[in-house]
Amino acid sequence: MENPTGMMTTIGVLLLNIGLYSIFPLYFTTMTSRLRTPAFYMYISIVLVVGGLAGAIYSFPLSETLHISGGNLAYGAFMMSTVMLIIIERDVSTFRNIIQLVVQVDIFVFAGFNFLAWLLDSKLVLNTVHIPSAIFNVSLWVLIIGGVLILGEILVLLLIFLQVRRLISNISALAFIYTFAFILILCADGVLFPILAFGLSPELVSIIFGNVSGKAIMAACYSVPMLGFYLIFRKKFIRFLDTPLPMNELIKAPRKKLLETLYHYEIRDQQFQRDKQELMEISERDELTTLANRRKFDQTFQTEWSRCQREEQFLTLVIGDIDFFKQYNDTYGHNQGDICLKKIAALWGNIFNRPSDLAARIGGEEFTILLPNTSPELALSSLHHFLTTLKEQPIPHHTSSIASHVTLSIGLAGCIPQKDTSPEALFILADQRLYAAKQGGRNRIVAE
Ligand code: GH3
Ligand code: MG
Ligand code: MG
Repeated sequence: MENPTGMMTTIGVLLLNIGLYSIFPLYFTTMTSRLRTPAFYMYISIVLVVGGLAGAIYSFPLSETLHISGGNLAYGAFMMSTVMLIIIERDVSTFRNIIQLVVQVDIFVFAGFNFLAWLLDSKLVLNTVHIPSAIFNVSLWVLIIGGVLILGEILVLLLIFLQVRRLISNISALAFIYTFAFILILCADGVLFPILAFGLSPELVSIIFGNVSGKAIMAACYSVPMLGFYLIFRKKFIRFLDTPLPMNELIKAPRKKLLETLYHYEIRDQQFQRDKQELMEISERDELTTLANRRKFDQTFQTEWSRCQREEQFLTLVIGDIDFFKQYNDTYGHNQGDICLKKIAALWGNIFNRPSDLAARIGGEEFTILLPNTSPELALSSLHHFLTTLKEQPIPHHTSSIASHVTLSIGLAGCIPQKDTSPEALFILADQRLYAAKQGGRNRIVAE
């Protein structure tokens, strides 16, 4: 391109093309989840098909040696939309759905396109606008390599996201790092794809060179809508940062799978919406006491930890354990033991009453409370009141060595979460204090 005006126009049209690809996923993000999810999946499929086609049709000549193909732009649009979808959905199963989608679309592209190529060559049909059949000749090998590569890249990107959000809590810094990682992955594709698709050959170096610079320019262009996405939809981004995404659920996750299935029906039937809600609740409740269970506690602990860290607020953890409960069971029987657990749980759930406070049963006769935005000092008086209530409305326990009624020992600890501390450390501290309460004679609270 010697002509500078021509060059400007080429860049302008390239940017226009990228703008066109970006406007749709950005718009979908504003929609309600019911419409948004299918819109995104549809768009991602379309972009994949267009990528298969457009790669062979046009490219932007930026210099003598540097061309950015239409297929490359579609690939960038795929990566960008997928990243946006994963951030918004905040669900590991989204990645699984993307895998399915890529496989299905690739099968469709392979079968459909090659059929078209054959049809155009066969003279059985009229090729009215004289389209060369070569456009539709897709190699299965390249398609498989491309598919596996983009899925691998998305996975790596997701793992980077999860790792980085653990280390950094500043939202704007995270937005920049995520965008930078996105650019790097797109550039890495520029190296990996030619190596895998074309094998090692003498011309490879120049192919790679052209490919990486093309990918880098394209990635830089896509980084603008990508960054815009994080900043415009900041709240959604924060929610992603706060949601635990257990990657092991990629492989197992029977509950997630069930919810996923429910979700598809939900579009047709409102009833399923309620089922899903109920299922969620069941999976988060302790059956005996109806308090939150260990799973819910662990999840909330992680979420509240991140939130309190970001907002520089106290997070306090209370752990309580019934004293001499084995003796209680031995004296009154296991059934009566269960009834006792239910009574204690009912009281435990009522010690604090802000909606963000979470009371849970995390083991046999072990209970916890998570108190966001609360210092341990603030929590103390309510806990003392709880021990007094146990005394004033006694559940008899004649074989307890310390009282004639059921008592609890309580440990609590709180902190403003920092980067160099962890929820596990806070748990251990509260647990050590519970142990100290037991050692100190039980039926007491240890807070320091
Ligand atoms: P400590 O004061 O040191 O806490 O002594 P403890 O006897 O309370 O503690 P230990 O851990 O020795 O025993 C806990 C008992 O709790 C043993 C177990 O039978 C009983 N338990 C655990 N889960 C349940 C349950 O769901 N129902 C009933 N009834 N008992 C349970
Ligand atoms: Mg006990
Ligand atoms: Mg115990």
